[in-house]
Amino acid sequence: MRKYIFITGGVMSGVGKGVATAAIGKIIQARGFNVTAIKIDPYVNVDAGTMNPTEHGEVFVLDDGVECDQDMGNYERFLGCSLSQANYMTTGSVYLSVINKERSMYYKGKQVEVVPRIPLEVIERIDKAAKKEKSEVVVIEIGGTVGEYENLLFLETIRLLKLKKPKDVILVLVSFIPALSAGGTELKTKPTQHAVRNLNSVGIHPDIILGRAVVPLDKKRKEKIQFMCSMGEGDVISAPNVESIYEIPINFEKDNIGDRILKKLSLKSKEKDMKDWDNFVRGIKKAQKKVEIGIIGKYFGSGDFILTDSYISVIEAVKHAAFFWKRKPIIEWINAEIFEKNPKNLDQLKEYQGIIIPGGFGGRGVEGKIKAIEFCRKNKIPFLGLCLGMQLAVIEFSRNVCKIEKAHSSEFSKSGNLVINFMPEQKALLREKRYGGTMRLGSYQCKIKPGTISFQAYKSRLVSERHRHRYELNNDYRKILEENGLVFAGVNPERDLVEIIELKNHPFFVATQFHPEFKSRPLQPHPLFKEFIRASVK
Ligand code: GLN
Repeated sequence: MRKYIFITGGVMSGVGKGVATAAIGKIIQARGFNVTAIKIDPYVNVDAGTMNPTEHGEVFVLDDGVECDQDMGNYERFLGCSLSQANYMTTGSVYLSVINKERSMYYKGKQVEVVPRIPLEVIERIDKAAKKEKSEVVVIEIGGTVGEYENLLFLETIRLLKLKKPKDVILVLVSFIPALSAGGTELKTKPTQHAVRNLNSVGIHPDIILGRAVVPLDKKRKEKIQFMCSMGEGDVISAPNVESIYEIPINFEKDNIGDRILKKLSLKSKEKDMKDWDNFVRGIKKAQKKVEIGIIGKYFGSGDFILTDSYISVIEAVKHAAFFWKRKPIIEWINAEIFEKNPKNLDQLKEYQGIIIPGGFGGRGVEGKIKAIEFCRKNKIPFLGLCLGMQLAVIEFSRNVCKIEKAHSSEFSKSGNLVINFMPEQKALLREKRYGGTMRLGSYQCKIKPGTISFQAYKSRLVSERHRHRYELNNDYRKILEENGLVFAGVNPERDLVEIIELKNHPFFVATQFHPEFKSRPLQPHPLFKEFIRASVK
């Protein structure tokens, strides 16, 4: 017995289909079922690794090194699980495996037709993921919006699977309900009616409609959608704007979505337990005292429009840790380039209780970030560096403490003292322009040095963290860095690579080569973020 809940989007994108999927998964999980979540993205890229963050948002990384859509992060955070390759596919990756199979005579000389081959491949992958995770219920989010050309084959997948297993498959349409009046009350259902007709034209019909609107749907609007879209009573659910995404499962449950879904899938609730989650959300609402964190980056888009999608996991990790300490997180975005234009701007950093420099690629803003790190080091402002943030902290320390004036990373400079450098195998990959999926990716072990801040945070000698980078701290410089007081608090035991650096005599100066943010969960904040926020609050 395996049940499938498909989620598609109507009218327009960007209305929170990913968190809606994660929330539905959470609700079913809380009823005692083993749930896994799958994302299908309609683009031709084989994975998200080669896409620019300002275009695509954050690239999330799984334990097995898959570079995927940020929604996978939402699934992991809501379900409290760790997903793998099987849980993520794109048009490109599906076609690639069908073509590879064809090349190896897998189809035994048959003509390989797009339908049914592509949908069958998708179904095979969904079942593989469910089997791997031993899941009774799979939630599958289909990227894009109904009516687009790109996701047609995935809608066809729903049709085929529903044809085969009518009692085991349901479809949820997350549809945008625009409001015309300023107060947001005059909700318009027509676009949703069109979205449903679009679904009907490819042979499927939604079982549940989630009405995404600024305010909850009133009775009249629900009835209208029910009537015009041939929906059952109670199958139109309100999905209004919320302050925190973590409220969403609780909000959906106000309209009994869990019961509706289980009934449609002929499942009986084994239990109903969202206590921990409820408490967590109550905590968010109660947190009054603030903790103000500045994040110095560059992937904000252009002009005054701040696009923080590129740093979503960092933001969530800060929130989880802040809520743990009963603080309301205030996150401010600082463009690194302002410190290059005018070093006086560095004084602004004193307004924050803690500073984060997250990951990044390419030289823009790098010198500004190095100046900011120097400022945090000297002024004892709690500092957390993530990936590029660690590499730049090493450059700063080399230049200003070890007096290696030409210290740099080979990512930004061909000459000088390359304290951050390629791994030898990376050189060949770049020469051959093999960029996709070739960084140091996924989970690697890290041995923690006792007596360090990191050890105090993890309370463990050996941890495992996720990576996404090409460059490493150059071991040739380890001796001089250490002699000058840099602490190597974490090292990868297999390859002897530095994973965490720290400073003594500083309230909190920790930087990691890996991305701890990918493993933070609302109910289990990441240990390093927890320590960072604790130091910031202090
Ligand atoms: N650009 C750096 C590298 O490739 C850092 C990457 C990152 O911050 N994720 O090593």
